Amino acid sequence: MADANAECNIKVLCRFRPLNQSEIFRGDKFIPIFQGEDTVTFGGKSYVFDQVFPTNTTQEQVYNACAKQIVKDVLGGYNGTIFAYGQTSSGKTHTMEVSYFEIYMDKIRDLLDGVFYAGNSENTGCTERFVTSPEEVMDVIDEGKANRHVAVTNMNEHSSRSHSIFLINIKQENVETEQKLSGKLYLVDLAGSEKVSKTGAEGAVLDEAKNINKSLSALGNVISALAEGTKSHVPYRDSKMTRILQDSLGGNCRTTMFICCSPSSYNDVETKSTLMFGQRAK
Ligand code: ADP
Ligand code: MG
Repeated sequence: MADANAECNIKVLCRFRPLNQSEIFRGDKFIPIFQGEDTVTFGGKSYVFDQVFPTNTTQEQVYNACAKQIVKDVLGGYNGTIFAYGQTSSGKTHTMEVSYFEIYMDKIRDLLDGVFYAGNSENTGCTERFVTSPEEVMDVIDEGKANRHVAVTNMNEHSSRSHSIFLINIKQENVETEQKLSGKLYLVDLAGSEKVSKTGAEGAVLDEAKNINKSLSALGNVISALAEGTKSHVPYRDSKMTRILQDSLGGNCRTTMFICCSPSSYNDVETKSTLMFGQRAK
């Protein structure tokens, strides 16, 4: 079994995407200055993370720096959560999903020869699926993506206004010793962290945006309480998401937060706020 006394391990990684076509066309400036492996200077202020991935970092480099170890740990009986935080269009889904996932699934295939269980946790009342191959996992992901709630804002064509939580529950049994081992991994692609004003939202969309901001700040509070380590009270109960993730965020767990950023001068206010959110977790 996993060591129950193991320290809760929180890693905060920062990734900047390249300038996109419309940012280049508009003549936006490229703001971040990367220093060493773990520091980025943005608008005159330096931010230190466990690792900083500059714009030319490949999916495979990201996988090797983060998910590889988590996958090993989850197979060893630990629980884990990987978050992607950032404003809409900062690269959260790019970092979390398909290509990343394909690498991830390949790894699972290598390690387990492909029998595992994916679905949502018992206490959420969500659908659970039994899957036996990486292809079936991808089908479940595609289905989930199609069902995600998307409301239009004027910030981009569409902006994801909901958190997407995907749980992979891995149960293993040693046929000789009958010893059982289980670990689960949550992949959480968070809703965009941009401020309401810039999206020009009103009415129901404004309420939705406020709820998102509230749940993101509840998550920030939990992560920073865990990162401090000395706090006896971790405010899991302040949001639905942190309640669901509770057993994969404390004690016997591996937590990684990807802080996803735009390099453009146009987004500098959001990027600073994103970087600050990440710093709170350190
Ligand atoms: P988010 O999920 O945060 O809204 P996306 O992951 O959808 O953002 O990324 C927005 C766009 O930028 C997508 O077209 C994506 O392919 C591209 N993109 C994001 N990160 C990178 C990156 N590191 N390198 C190249 N393109 C990227
Ligand atoms: Mg997305």
